[in-house]
Amino acid sequence: MLERGEHVSFANCGLPYYAGGSIGQRDALLLQTPESLWSRFRLDVRTRTEVLGVDRATREVTVRRPGGTVGTEGYDVLVLGPGARPIVPEIPGVERALVLRDVSDVDRVVAGLRSGARSAVIVGGGFIGVEMAEQLRHRGLDVTLVELADQVPRRDDKCLSWQQQPAVPEREVSRRTGAEPTAVPGAPR
Ligand SMILES: Cc1cc2nc3c(=O)[nH]c(=O)nc-3n(C[C@H](O)[C@H](O)[C@H](O)COP(=O)(O)OP(=O)(O)OC[C@H]3O[C@@H](n4cnc5c(N)ncnc54)[C@H](O)[C@@H]3O)c2cc1C
Repeated sequence: MLERGEHVSFANCGLPYYAGGSIGQRDALLLQTPESLWSRFRLDVRTRTEVLGVDRATREVTVRRPGGTVGTEGYDVLVLGPGARPIVPEIPGVERALVLRDVSDVDRVVAGLRSGARSAVIVGGGFIGVEMAEQLRHRGLDVTLVELADQVPRRDDKCLSWQQQPAVPEREVSRRTGAEPTAVPGAPR
């Protein structure tokens, strides 16, 4: 198993709760390690190993290994499970925004919180956005949630909407529905 990130089998679902302090220990996010997967299942897991290309004719993948050396690995069967990336809007200043996908991402969020952030804007009112809104509010920040659709969480069934099943009372999180950011200005904090 080739994984370009630093961790394998971490608790994505716990990331917002670690950011918010409901999960106190970072270690609680890390469910398995390459060593534990080897001892339990005899799985050969290699982290910080990125697949760069596939050669179906020779049945090889090109990989960049830890340290940057590039080589190949042969296979009989190739299973692709590269997951998905957050959609990042192409707006000026977006490089100042953080995304939340893996443990490295949540480390950056927590570093921002520890450096004294007092407010947060969350773009995207899906479940992850709502969980982050709840958790950052739990941490005491002023939170504004911006969602393109007319409700949060964005769902076809309006009965499931946050308006009717509030995870966080409306007075605690500002919501901007039917809205999208157009820039991330570098304003002083
Ligand atoms: C913050 C957050 C909270 C979530 N909460 C929940 C929840 O409560 N309940 C729920 O059911 N789901 C939740 N999810 C969704 C769930 O985590 C995903 O559905 C699930 O992780 C998808 O699994 P996957 O294996 O398809 O992809 P991933 O878990 O993304 O795994 C794909 C892996 O492939 C690696 N990779 C990609 N390209 C390469 C490459 N070229 N070479 C090597 N490695 C590569 C990536 O680094 C990644 O580690 C949450 C997700 C997030 C981000």
